[in-house]
Amino acid sequence: MLEQEIRRLIREETRFRTGLGFDVHRLVEGRRLILGGVEIPFERGLEGHSDADVLTHAVMDALLGAAALADIGVHFPDTDLRWKDADSLKLASAVGDLVRQAGYDIEGVDAMVLAQRPKISPHFPAMQANLARALEVRPDQVGVKATTTERLGFPGRGEGMAAMASALLRART
Ligand code: MG
Repeated sequence: MLEQEIRRLIREETRFRTGLGFDVHRLVEGRRLILGGVEIPFERGLEGHSDADVLTHAVMDALLGAAALADIGVHFPDTDLRWKDADSLKLASAVGDLVRQAGYDIEGVDAMVLAQRPKISPHFPAMQANLARALEVRPDQVGVKATTTERLGFPGRGEGMAAMASALLRART
């Protein structure tokens, strides 16, 4: 009986899967700055094939990784004109569908933007709400944070922004 219970508990534990994501985009003039689906007033924006939403891209890769479904470059190649200037929240919604189809529920994601400027924290609630809606979870399941890099490296020099993310999935039984 005890052995059965231990085996059941081990199965329960292995139902959880974690993933990590990371992304970088260059800051350029003449582009809008979109982070977590929020347009932030700034003199420059992120360059990329899609809307270059570096935060949402890191979250998507964390989710795909947790489900062992490769990365966003595989699912949404930047050679494909369908994703040109694409709304990354729509892509995130598609990623949510993919992980659910693979048999997982999203327990939570957490993400961090690395940017020297502008100040991002006033936009956290709107970003959480956008990502939660796209992923079909509650806003309290989506952590959004930001840090400067103390003027060091490419984010610190304002050459670009980076984002990292983690995701926790639970396999449906
Ligand atoms: Mg990207």
